[in-house]
Amino acid sequence: MRHFAVVGSGPAGFYTAEALQKAYGEQARIDILDRYPVPYGLIRFGVAPDHQSLKAVSKRYDKVVESAGVDFIGNVTLGRDVSVAELLDLYDAVILGIGAPHDRKLGIPGEDLPGVVGSAEFVGWYNGHPEFADLDPPLDGTHAAVIGNGNVALDCARILSKTRAEFEGSDIVRHALEALEQSAIRTITILGRRGPHQIAMTPKELGELGHLEETLPVVDLNDFPPRAADEGLEPGQRKSVTILREFADIRANKRKSMIFDFFAKPLRIEGDGKAERLVVERTELDEKGAARGTGETYTVPASLVISCIGYSTPPIEGVAYDERGGKFLNEAGRIGERLFAVGWARRGPTGTIGTNRPDGYEVADRIAAEMPPGSSGERAGAEGLKRLLESRGVMPTDYDDWRKIEETEAANARPGSPREKFVRVAHWLETLGR
Ligand SMILES: Cc1cc2nc3c(=O)[nH]c(=O)nc-3n(C[C@H](O)[C@H](O)[C@H](O)COP(=O)(O)OP(=O)(O)OC[C@H]3O[C@@H](n4cnc5c(N)ncnc54)[C@H](O)[C@@H]3O)c2cc1C
Repeated sequence: MRHFAVVGSGPAGFYTAEALQKAYGEQARIDILDRYPVPYGLIRFGVAPDHQSLKAVSKRYDKVVESAGVDFIGNVTLGRDVSVAELLDLYDAVILGIGAPHDRKLGIPGEDLPGVVGSAEFVGWYNGHPEFADLDPPLDGTHAAVIGNGNVALDCARILSKTRAEFEGSDIVRHALEALEQSAIRTITILGRRGPHQIAMTPKELGELGHLEETLPVVDLNDFPPRAADEGLEPGQRKSVTILREFADIRANKRKSMIFDFFAKPLRIEGDGKAERLVVERTELDEKGAARGTGETYTVPASLVISCIGYSTPPIEGVAYDERGGKFLNEAGRIGERLFAVGWARRGPTGTIGTNRPDGYEVADRIAAEMPPGSSGERAGAEGLKRLLESRGVMPTDYDDWRKIEETEAANARPGSPREKFVRVAHWLETLGR
């Protein structure tokens, strides 16, 4: 019998557990640990609440934890309740899939002013992440700026744009829904340092913007290269650029606008004790396709600034760390002896949910090559972990607890919403009678 600990119950953790389960069958016990009593990582706390169909992938993960030999152990934080060295003592292999939950800093003056938030905070706020339930982003001004040209920037801008009716069928948390309904924001500027050909936005997410009830997407065709240049783009990117171009043809009067400001590099955020405006430098592309400042500057009003420029994994004691990449130092997923990384903790914050699947399978293959199914170890596994946690006063939760929380969330849901998420750890534990 082998014992494996997968830390993190996001997509990467689940795909790894699935791969290990397939490789070892009943010859291994696989524990999926998470700091929260509910699983799925960014499927729950990141993917936009109005993209419910994407969240359905969690059904596949449910099957993994329901299969023989796989357990979910929640409410256990690696680095606080248990160390990597202790897990390596208890398990034959430890796989870190803790994601990249920290916002990368903009590195410009004014980014610590009230009103400037990172996308992990803002997305966490509307998705019911317990750390960000109290964020209370300022929505009383008329202008917001979203920095970044990826899908996360589009998510944030879209959420700021929608009406209450457009959230029907979503699982946006109540505090965010109510605050957004009162929002005074009428102009949302999305800033990207480079141009339309360099966006990291996908056609589906862009396409939605053309159908918003009250918001008009606005582009300046002068920012685009000649149409013939689109031919050289990869098909998905070409489609995205075509959708962007078509925004210029929409003729409608709407209350709000979402302005795509390309070739725009934020230099600083200014304001009297809080964010009021961004000072931006116009850029152009250099020979290598990088953004180069032109020296021309202008201001963009914004009392809410959301930076969507990427994430990093927090360093954890005893684990080699890649400062530049903001992830664990690893070679094809291997950090050290019997210690591995998967998902965003391995690759950095890029790719879709499905990108994490090959990671998990590759690491499981490596483990199976080093400890062939049928071989046995002498580690204590979950029993040892539970004894250790008990000695520290940590109360882990299990699969039944997670189900109970989800059932209560579904039972409490308001009409038109699949669930009413709990937004505080205390509420989760209360549901479990603790
Ligand atoms: C805002 C946003 C929107 C997105 N939307 C989409 C989308 O629409 N479609 C798409 O395909 N992809 C989307 N993605 C990307 C997708 O969410 C990621 O590819 C995926 O979640 C990464 O998986 P992961 O398992 O590496 O990390 P995560 O999903 O972050 O999972 C990490 C897990 O580790 C746990 N954890 C963290 N620290 C600890 C610790 N110290 N101890 C124990 N547990 C810990 C966390 O609680 C979490 O459960 C989005 C990402 C973001 C940020």
